[in-house]
Amino acid sequence: MDKYKAIFITKMTQQLKKILNKQETEMIKNKEVYGLLHMFKGTSGTLDLDLLFHLVSDLMRKVEERKGDWTQSELKEFLSKLIEICEEYEHFHEELNKIPDFRNTEVPLIQLIDDDISLLIFLKEMMERKGWMVIANSNAEHAMEQFYSMQPDCIIIDINLPVKTGFDVLDDIHMYTKHSFVPKIICSIDNSREKRITAYKKGADDYIEKPLDMEEFLIRIERHIERKRTFDQSVLIDELTEVYNRKFLKDSYNRFISDTIRTKTSGTIAIVDIDHFKKVNDTYGHVVGDKVLKEFAQFLKGSIRNTDTLFRYGGEEFVILFQRAIESDVAEVLNRMLKRFSEMIFEADGDRFSLSFSAGVFEINTGDIPLKKALELADEALYLAKENGRARIESANKMKDTPNKKLLNISIVDDDSLIRSILINILDSIEINNLMIDVAEYEDGIQFLESNRLQENGMHFLILDGIMPVMDGIELLQIVKKTSYKHNAHILMLTGRKSEHDIAEALRLGADDYVTKPFSIKELQARITRLITRMI
Ligand code: GH3
Ligand code: MG
Ligand code: MG
Repeated sequence: MDKYKAIFITKMTQQLKKILNKQETEMIKNKEVYGLLHMFKGTSGTLDLDLLFHLVSDLMRKVEERKGDWTQSELKEFLSKLIEICEEYEHFHEELNKIPDFRNTEVPLIQLIDDDISLLIFLKEMMERKGWMVIANSNAEHAMEQFYSMQPDCIIIDINLPVKTGFDVLDDIHMYTKHSFVPKIICSIDNSREKRITAYKKGADDYIEKPLDMEEFLIRIERHIERKRTFDQSVLIDELTEVYNRKFLKDSYNRFISDTIRTKTSGTIAIVDIDHFKKVNDTYGHVVGDKVLKEFAQFLKGSIRNTDTLFRYGGEEFVILFQRAIESDVAEVLNRMLKRFSEMIFEADGDRFSLSFSAGVFEINTGDIPLKKALELADEALYLAKENGRARIESANKMKDTPNKKLLNISIVDDDSLIRSILINILDSIEINNLMIDVAEYEDGIQFLESNRLQENGMHFLILDGIMPVMDGIELLQIVKKTSYKHNAHILMLTGRKSEHDIAEALRLGADDYVTKPFSIKELQARITRLITRMI
């Protein structure tokens, strides 16, 4: 079904382009527009493309009411939403099409970039029949993102693409493919000597002329994939465990960081280490030890997503780069893995035994952390996990954050909701190193007292409105100053401009500062920052 949808959308886009690309001066018959929409309506209905169906029906009603013909620009404007949706569907279809849920690394992954959608669909199907996995893109920009996140085993690129050409794509991936071999195949209808030479100069491994002879095309691709496999195995794969070795870690980490920056997400690095592995060697010998290592690596590999990468870092230590994953999610995944691994039974010399592992994780969300530092931090967390009794996961971020960061609870007590939201905005923009701010708002003094806010851990900063209908700020200030929390609570009063008496009273009762209403946001921001900095 998805395939038909894609074909229909492509066809529809083409027909829209055709009708809109007539001569500037040529009028377009209203009947023709109607006929086109009518066809779209029928097919979109059949294919369950609801959004399109409704939009087209809507447009048709307008066309029915209209008497005259259309100028180019009128029609373009009239159909703009439809064109937009077509583009969106095309994009969406690609999204759906691309990522196989779980990447079986035994099966080669081919990336195909071509703006001829019918050819794209056809080639994808032919290659999938051979048992390969195929991600197809019609847009080179988007294709690059996928290239880095999916790491295909072979990339097939058309030269003539919109926005970026196939040659640009070769340039883009040049650095990456210098370090890790990915066969790059250019396909083009233009078989000129000049194009072929440019392609090879830019690093293409093959140049295949269109129209394609399918039999030859598939055999050539197959040969490239075989060479890639041999290459990977000889250079990047650890012989014993058959996962990537640490040689590949640096490159992968750089890619992992660029993805993190580009997608504005977090990634998490983990170091995983078998507990008391030495005992296995000591008790059953190295051969059994090797076998356990191999099984452990395969267990890890089978438990992570296709976008995560596993490395043997050394001995019985493995590194995993979890792409687009926050530390707490990774910790949860590792905990589940730990549970399953601990339940596995190993057999040797007629004995049965089980093992566990410990792990340290570190979440990265900035580009300025070099691999060495990331490993160091994850390793510290691993060390802590071992210290804390093994068979557990510890996080370097938690080690880093919690002990140093102070908690400051800020409470806003004001009956004016607008003032409360201005204050919250101001507070959100305040950034002070090593400070975690927790803001809560209250409509009056009673609500504040009933919430037992002052009993919460951390320091307290209260911003109190002087005048409120139910228990005003001055009253509340008096009460707070009588509690045992008074030493831990700083208070800023908001008072009326004219009420000198209120100001004097507030200061006498122990307010740390006051601001008169109406206040300048800038000034208030500066005051609050200054007070907070003084407190910590
Ligand atoms: P811990 O719980 O603290 O991690 O204890 P451990 O015994 O697992 O860790 P330790 O680092 O003390 O020992 C690791 C052992 O792993 C020592 C080394 O001989 C063994 N080892 C390292 N590489 C290999 C290998 O390729 N094969 C085998 N069989 N053993 C290995
Ligand atoms: Mg160990
Ligand atoms: Mg070790």
